Amino acid sequence: MKAMVLNKLASLEQNKAPLELVTLPDPVPGENEILIRVSVCGVCHTELDEIEGRTPPPRLPVVLGHQVVGRVERTGPQARIFKPGERVGVAWIYAADGTCQFCRAGNENLCEAFRATGRDANGGYAETMTVAEGFAYRIPDVFSDAEAAPLLCAGAVGYRALRLTGLQDGQNLGLTGFGASGHLVLKAARYQYPNSKIFVFARSGQEQAFARELGAFWAGDTQEETPAKLNAIIDTTPVWKPVVEALKNLERGGRLVVNAIRKEEVDKASLLQLDYSTHLWLEKEIKSVANVARRDVSEFLELAARIPIRPEVEEFPLEKANEALVELKARKIRGAKVLRVA
Ligand SMILES: [Zn+2]
Ligand SMILES: [Zn+2]
Repeated sequence: MKAMVLNKLASLEQNKAPLELVTLPDPVPGENEILIRVSVCGVCHTELDEIEGRTPPPRLPVVLGHQVVGRVERTGPQARIFKPGERVGVAWIYAADGTCQFCRAGNENLCEAFRATGRDANGGYAETMTVAEGFAYRIPDVFSDAEAAPLLCAGAVGYRALRLTGLQDGQNLGLTGFGASGHLVLKAARYQYPNSKIFVFARSGQEQAFARELGAFWAGDTQEETPAKLNAIIDTTPVWKPVVEALKNLERGGRLVVNAIRKEEVDKASLLQLDYSTHLWLEKEIKSVANVARRDVSEFLELAARIPIRPEVEEFPLEKANEALVELKARKIRGAKVLRVA
């Protein structure tokens, strides 16, 4: 199979082509595994964190990619759920032990044995991959392969973040950072909380206009003060300043959910602007969202099909994965980036 592999950690500023196109033997599905013929794989900001070493893969080389859509090609001897030819998706959660206190409580995303697709095991930047059948999902028919890819991470993690806000219908929701996940969360939130107003912080006028187009009640710059306080805010930016700025707009007792696997160090000094009485006093909370549980992925796929959410995608051929990553790093975002593998 053809695959784009990461051989060595690198900063994308210094190395604009950290992934190398290679030919590898097709993996063989284990007992409970399926072999997937990959059709598309989404490109996620987390790949930048893996490449640049903020959440490094434990072993190299590795095939990145955790928003995988394809068809089952073969099944392992004990695999029973899917038949060859069925369309399936794979998300960030590749494995968990299923037995610890977190797994039993439905928070397998916090499991110590949590393994991530495309970091701890080979992922979807390749023509084929294997995964345990219990960690694959049927994709609703309404979506094309490319449309389904961003739902598997940006959508599913965004959905978990939205759930963790504890928002009630009618309360104000803020979104800071308006990339692939923000777009999907806005659409899901409008459906799930029809009486809530959504406030979007985005850096460019273009992004702000896009947010209004998608139904945001208000859109403005990260530093701006919102016309009303926000009961919950989801932060999907990779940096710190927006977190501090958002906290001043948070309502008493409100919660800020940080949806980022790692934050970049570049503007960490912004945290020194944190003023207790302005930003935290009056029971304001900060909570992070870690990974996804399978429940988040399957529930979100169903919800997205019902609404329906059709993500805007921009396709790149597998061989151009490096270009897609460089563009993502430069934050040239409108639609989600998806690699076309087959
Ligand atoms: Zn992701
Ligand atoms: Zn566990």
